[in-house]
Amino acid sequence: MPSENFSELLNVEDLSVDFVSVDGRVHVLNDVSLRVNRGEIVGVVGESGSGKTTLGLAILRLLDTPPAEVTSGSIIFDGKDIMKIDEAELWRVRGTGMNMVFQESLIALNPVYRVESQIGESIEVAGKSKNAPVSGKEKHEEMLDVLKQLCLDRPEIVLKKYPHELSGGMRQRVSIAMSIVQTPKLLILDEPTTGLDAYVQNRILQIVRKLSREFGLSMILITHDLTVAAQICNRIYVMYAGRVVEVGRSEQILEQPLHPYSETLLAALPKGYSDSPPLPVPQGEPPDLRRLPSGCKFNPRCPYAMEICKRKEPELTGFEDRLISCWKYSEPQTVVALQTA
Ligand code: SF4
Repeated sequence: MPSENFSELLNVEDLSVDFVSVDGRVHVLNDVSLRVNRGEIVGVVGESGSGKTTLGLAILRLLDTPPAEVTSGSIIFDGKDIMKIDEAELWRVRGTGMNMVFQESLIALNPVYRVESQIGESIEVAGKSKNAPVSGKEKHEEMLDVLKQLCLDRPEIVLKKYPHELSGGMRQRVSIAMSIVQTPKLLILDEPTTGLDAYVQNRILQIVRKLSREFGLSMILITHDLTVAAQICNRIYVMYAGRVVEVGRSEQILEQPLHPYSETLLAALPKGYSDSPPLPVPQGEPPDLRRLPSGCKFNPRCPYAMEICKRKEPELTGFEDRLISCWKYSEPQTVVALQTA
């Protein structure tokens, strides 16, 4: 796939993660590869159980081990092998290299501290890790500045508030502020607009896109909502059952999705978003990772399933200028040969 003239910042290769418990081992991520270029916004889209949040946590080495166990793969960020760096280096990377904004801003923020203390602490941490301590005056000015960038009116008043005194949209912007004052190169946003009304959601997405454009900030946007990803992402990775099943530019995925699962995600969008004829929304429940079917993991819900789909799992391979994992897009002779083998 063409790389739109960005240089690479993050390269995740064949990452596999299991969760191990007394009930057994569950494969949560299977050979996931993902690339993020400098200044690029990449969407990771899929329903619950697709592994997208696990992927975000793994990139930051934030998974609890145990129960999580990385069984294979590599994560190279800005030239550093994240799986091999020591704790001190990891601490620096998490502060000023990359960090994550979580879905539940009320949980992410400390309820007993005012906004001013929480953003101020992030600024101090960033200053220490860069060996450039900031004065109280500089810190205060930076806090006001970042809240203005995030379009929070009357920032002086916001700084004096406790998290529970803010609306959901304001809290989410405070969470983003705490991340961006550390001037990371990569920001991972996990469902940043879930639970917010459409107006606030659009406002936050516009702000996020502006931050990326103005500061060259790279982002991974994790979401179950294809419309959210399509609004701001350059490329989209569609995930299903811990696997990447399609990768393409946003407009490709939105206008002409190829993988049947991507098609059904598009079919679930509000009317008028797409000219495509309506397709059946996937039948059945999201996948239970403890009991996945053989062959293609989407086959029980796929309207195009063939005999081979139940026997053999397709690999993620190039098709035209995108990547796809589906027998529908394999050479017909390959499918016939495998059907009759
Ligand atoms: Fe459907 Fe088969 Fe493609 Fe899987 S491989 S998505 S079951 S057509």
